[in-house]
Amino acid sequence: MTRSVYFFGNGTADGTRDMKVTLGGKGANLAEMTNLGVPVPPGFTIAADQCVAYLEHGGISDALRAEVRDALARLEDVSGKRFGDPANPLLVSVRSGASVSMPGMMETILNLGLNDETVEGLSRASGNPRFAYDSYRRFLQMYADVVLGVSIHRFEQLLATKRLTTGAASDSDLSAEALRSLVKEYQQLVRAVTGADFPMDPQVQLWGAIEAVWHSWTLKKAVDYRKVNGIPHTLGTGVNIVSMVFGNMGDDSGTGVAFTRDPSTGERRFYGEFLVNAQGEDVVAGIRTPLHIDEMARLLPGAYEQLLDTQARLEQHFRDMQDIEFTVERGTLYLLQTRTGKRTTAAALRIALDMVDEGLITQREAVRRLQPNQLDQLLHRVIASTAHATPIAVGLPASPGAASGIVVFDPDAAEQRHLKGEQVILVREETTPEDFHGIVAARAVLTARGGMTSHAAVVARGMGKCAIVGCTALEISNEHRSMCIGDHVVAEGDWITLDGGTGRVFLGDLPTQPSEVMRVINGVLPQADAPTYQGFATLMGWADAHRRLKVRANADTPRDARVARNFGAEGIGLCRTEHMFFEGDRITAMREMIIARDEGGRRRALEKLLPMQRADFEGIFQAMDGFPVTIRLLDPPLHEFLPHGGEESFLLAQSLGLARQELARIVSALRETNPMLGHRGCRLGVVYPEITEMQARAIFEAAVRAFRRGIDVRPEIMVPLVSDVSELRHQRAIIEQAAEQVMGVMGERVPYLIGTMIELPRAALTADEIAHQADFFSFGTNDLTQTTFGLSRDDAGRFLPQYLEAGLLADDPFQVLDAKGVGKLVKWAVRDARDVKAHLKVGICGEHGGDPRSVTFCHEAGLDYVSCSPYRVPVARLAAAHAALAAANAPA
Ligand code: ADP
Ligand code: MG
Ligand code: MG
Repeated sequence: MTRSVYFFGNGTADGTRDMKVTLGGKGANLAEMTNLGVPVPPGFTIAADQCVAYLEHGGISDALRAEVRDALARLEDVSGKRFGDPANPLLVSVRSGASVSMPGMMETILNLGLNDETVEGLSRASGNPRFAYDSYRRFLQMYADVVLGVSIHRFEQLLATKRLTTGAASDSDLSAEALRSLVKEYQQLVRAVTGADFPMDPQVQLWGAIEAVWHSWTLKKAVDYRKVNGIPHTLGTGVNIVSMVFGNMGDDSGTGVAFTRDPSTGERRFYGEFLVNAQGEDVVAGIRTPLHIDEMARLLPGAYEQLLDTQARLEQHFRDMQDIEFTVERGTLYLLQTRTGKRTTAAALRIALDMVDEGLITQREAVRRLQPNQLDQLLHRVIASTAHATPIAVGLPASPGAASGIVVFDPDAAEQRHLKGEQVILVREETTPEDFHGIVAARAVLTARGGMTSHAAVVARGMGKCAIVGCTALEISNEHRSMCIGDHVVAEGDWITLDGGTGRVFLGDLPTQPSEVMRVINGVLPQADAPTYQGFATLMGWADAHRRLKVRANADTPRDARVARNFGAEGIGLCRTEHMFFEGDRITAMREMIIARDEGGRRRALEKLLPMQRADFEGIFQAMDGFPVTIRLLDPPLHEFLPHGGEESFLLAQSLGLARQELARIVSALRETNPMLGHRGCRLGVVYPEITEMQARAIFEAAVRAFRRGIDVRPEIMVPLVSDVSELRHQRAIIEQAAEQVMGVMGERVPYLIGTMIELPRAALTADEIAHQADFFSFGTNDLTQTTFGLSRDDAGRFLPQYLEAGLLADDPFQVLDAKGVGKLVKWAVRDARDVKAHLKVGICGEHGGDPRSVTFCHEAGLDYVSCSPYRVPVARLAAAHAALAAANAPA
């Protein structure tokens, strides 16, 4: 028979820190601390699988009841108190705790076991009736709220009234008498709301609380959190039953929370807050302003010394920064929790590096401790350090970045004001698909309700926009077009500033600035003055030592190429040539080319474009000296370059010497029903070979010129949207001919490769044939995802969020590579192609190249490199290191 209940107390425990899956994080660490000899009040943990069993079958087995009965008896022995004993009652807390730390679970119930009789016993045993009744009223309100469903606000109202009528300045000033009568009022309230008396039997109380913990696993908030973070629903939560220690026994008692290092900067100093004569979460609840932990040295010196010593031991033992919760009862210290502390990315970097210096962890562990996506935080705009502002509310940090704008309460107004050039922040109760255009128009989104998977959160993250959701302090009045946040009234048109990385909301237009790392990358801050950048660079260097995948960037301009190099890109995986045609007078030459009636006209226009392209390529080769540059030939349908009516058309017709009707006829002749699947990619080069020829010439001329300047050039020419090998063969011949011609005339040879994008299912399925004509493959996973799903990326935003919310898709396939479908095509293509050419160079250049899970996929699929936006390069480098380290650690 497997056990379900694990005891801890008297210096030994049944569990250890390695049993998180069974006991949950809280339970496993309570056991570990007990084993270490850290003072922890005794208790026991019900295994998480019991939660799963209960939710599946309902009911509680006799076996479990018996185990709990035995554990309780042991607890009575160890503590010398008895559960329900009117003379000397044992009181316990009932606490949830899953294997992964999860907000949104049940609030802890304290002082369970109190009733009208035992409260008298507690009063006599402690000699402190005030304390006994304070504990009782806390228990009544918590239990009634969490288990019986009586809103906590109704208790708080009674409490506030009691303070008023007795003239007490704060809760701790209420007399024993006042608390005693408050308890009666609480009990009446429970009776009035639930139609039944508050349960007096401690056994009934206990099982009620245990079942409530189990139920809390299925609360919407908890379910949403698991969805966003990919935590399986089948884990369940442990239940911890811990004998009470009391921080509310007087001025020699207290409670607090602390971090072994500063969680926002990472600085190595003990950091925390505490309150004298308080219980449970008074510190974080914000009822009284907590004291800085240093004050504790003065107020409770003995306990403070012990706490300092204990926190150092815990950090050494767990070898990571700890977030601890403690209580002092009449001068004696107890630890109630320790866990790995949450921290900002800057703090995570500093702590990881310091711990390597201190010999606590290895470089490899330091690399693994930083999550790739966390690096993003280092790049987003931040609120300028000069803005010493206090937030007026805090919500869920759904999507990072700092943004300020004027408040607008409906999507139409957001759109209108945006079109007038105003910066708007869309504020909604919650968003729905009808708000989509408003989100597009806004710089940031703020909602009062909704969790991390709400519509607003998903859409904003997808667009890379700052968003804060579930900011419950907001009260929006649509009627008055205003909102209240605490005492502040914010009207439509007022300025606010959001920090999406922390969830903080500020009044006014706070100055924002690029982050420290970005300022170094952009060359406006010297590295020597940038400690976070230095830490970042060191850690990235360690990561590079472990990865196998190369990381390139998608960059279209010399400027982007330089940014990419500064972020450590090892080449360009995708240089889109069409972007070059939009700037300045180039678009005119491009339009001339499109409008031309015959090849001669097209060639004349192309001749104008050639020097412009050549200059761009030369700049890019220079920025990427020594690294490969993959240049994709023209890809989009030609009509994208033409104006669609209006004044612009008029001017164009004039400059080309065409009648307006003539231009309109050409434009409409180019119009396609489904341009995404129309005349684009290599299909352009097949119909207009002179375009391919011009682009190839521009590339080779630039390459030779750069080469003459001593630059190590490695051009790779990439043919887009191939579905059959014949297309590649056709384009290849043109490119090779251009190469021979240019190099012949210029009298200098440079090495080059010709390859193709694999972005259509048919290309993947015929990869073996295509490989014969290709020096490299690059998976264009954006189009490959579109064509595999038959789903247009530009239109998916309208309905994909509902798919995600309803769980029809686990992830947005345009963000996380769909390993099952699209990934299968990738794997097949790699396998078939390498059967033909064993060392064919293979990479990907979709947006996925910057997504950690997709990078892991690429590592496993045996790709040579990933290519992503310059700003995602560090994420990809770290993700590639993680993938390699995970593979190295995986059991054979
Ligand atoms: P959370 O998971 O929200 O941190 P906890 O279960 O840690 O909730 O409980 C919150 C707080 O309640 C603890 O930090 C501690 O102050 C208090 N608490 C919990 N159990 C006990 C106990 N047995 N004795 C005294 N205080 C307790
Ligand atoms: Mg806690
Ligand atoms: Mg494509």
